[in-house]
Amino acid sequence: MPGRILIVDDIATNIKILEAKLEDDYYDIIQAESGMEALKLARIHSPDLIMLDIMMPEMDGFEVCRRLKADPETAHIPVIIVTALSELKDRIQGLSVGADDFLTKPVQEIPLLARIRSLIRLKHLIDMWRVREETSSQLGMIASADFLQIEAVNGKILVLSKIKSQSELIQKTLVKDGDQLEITDSIEQFNQKLASDLWELLIITIDIGKSETIKLISHIRSHSNAILRSVPILLLIGEEEREITAKALDFGISDYSALPIEPLEFLARVRTQLKRFRYQERLRLNYENSVAMAATDPLTGIYNRRYLDSHVKTMLSHSIAEKKNLSIAFCDLDHFKLINDSHGHEAGDEVLIEFCNRVQNNLRNFDLLARMGGEEFVILLPEANQERAIAIAERIRQLISETPFVLRNGTEIAVTVSIGISSLKNDQDSDKEMIDRADRAMYLAKQSGRNQVASL
Ligand code: GH3
Ligand code: MG
Ligand code: MG
Repeated sequence: MPGRILIVDDIATNIKILEAKLEDDYYDIIQAESGMEALKLARIHSPDLIMLDIMMPEMDGFEVCRRLKADPETAHIPVIIVTALSELKDRIQGLSVGADDFLTKPVQEIPLLARIRSLIRLKHLIDMWRVREETSSQLGMIASADFLQIEAVNGKILVLSKIKSQSELIQKTLVKDGDQLEITDSIEQFNQKLASDLWELLIITIDIGKSETIKLISHIRSHSNAILRSVPILLLIGEEEREITAKALDFGISDYSALPIEPLEFLARVRTQLKRFRYQERLRLNYENSVAMAATDPLTGIYNRRYLDSHVKTMLSHSIAEKKNLSIAFCDLDHFKLINDSHGHEAGDEVLIEFCNRVQNNLRNFDLLARMGGEEFVILLPEANQERAIAIAERIRQLISETPFVLRNGTEIAVTVSIGISSLKNDQDSDKEMIDRADRAMYLAKQSGRNQVASL
């Protein structure tokens, strides 16, 4: 997973040490040797993660973090404090100025790398929502969500913990702070509650057993409810179980904290997770509420051309800036006029709807399907190069041609689609040019006999 990391340390050797640890993962590393420089570079490069030293002359890391978190341009970027300080009060100060984690030098490599991967994954997810929100604001549709304005109190929290003394301390700490929580000591009950309500944070203590914990995390992260899949998980781990941290992070926990809990540190971590989740949910809801309604095609419920045009533009400039791939698939149903002519216009409508359902169910979350008009559809495929886009299109082609469409009245109709692919060529490529290339590729697919995929 690529990502851009800003390392801030006044001692160049420390930066080199961290850089060496990160080397194998091919991150794009930016360096800053002072707080001021860090603030400037964070704004210019918009990194996916900032690793911040505390003891620096002029401006210390706490102040840098505070300023990063007060600037709307940088507030959402995860920060890991990496410092020689190891006192609890420093850790709490670091977390309360908004850092996502606080690590003491020398940092252990494996948990560090897993931590970085997990924060970058989260950042990429939020970036995607931000891009969509940008599109919506360009369309003049919504007031944007502001990370700085989001309060992280009164959370709705579900806790799984077997040790009574810990549950009681967790309960006391959170309830005193105004949170609304339910605690259970059984995995079964936890799973039931999980599905029957909306939670903003899940807290799991490792005392349910290591492999049970990993199984449970994996269950949550692959849940059929998409919102639940993205609810933050805070894992409480005792000293003896520390070696499980990296694995748990890779399976999708959002953060971890030590057992027995230290109330202030625990609370700071809870607040950070709540804030992030609320921000992410706000972005999602804003987007769903206003954009979806004004930007969708009434027949099929997918995006319309207006939304697509705007989103392709935004996505293209982001892909160029981030040096990421981007592909477009242009789909046109074959001999659709014939379907209308022989089965009626309403049957044609049903086919269009079923086509969208089949395609939509086979796309990744951030692929975007839109109706250009008539029986023409465009799929925007972020981070897909040409080869991958062709593979996706081929799968879609088969998905349509291999199973006949069944109408409400029981009639079976064989449907096929021709698909043209274009992929981002260089930073001079434009949205219009890409859509046009995909359209021409689709035309080639028609010429070579329909029910084909072609690329240009
Ligand atoms: P080709 O394989 O070359 O793409 O042939 P085609 O028949 O699919 O293409 P053509 O462009 O000639 O016909 C498209 C038809 O789609 C004509 C139009 O009436 C029909 N159509 C456009 N919008 C709708 C719609 O919303 N519902 C229905 N049922 N038909 C539509
Ligand atoms: Mg057509
Ligand atoms: Mg057609």
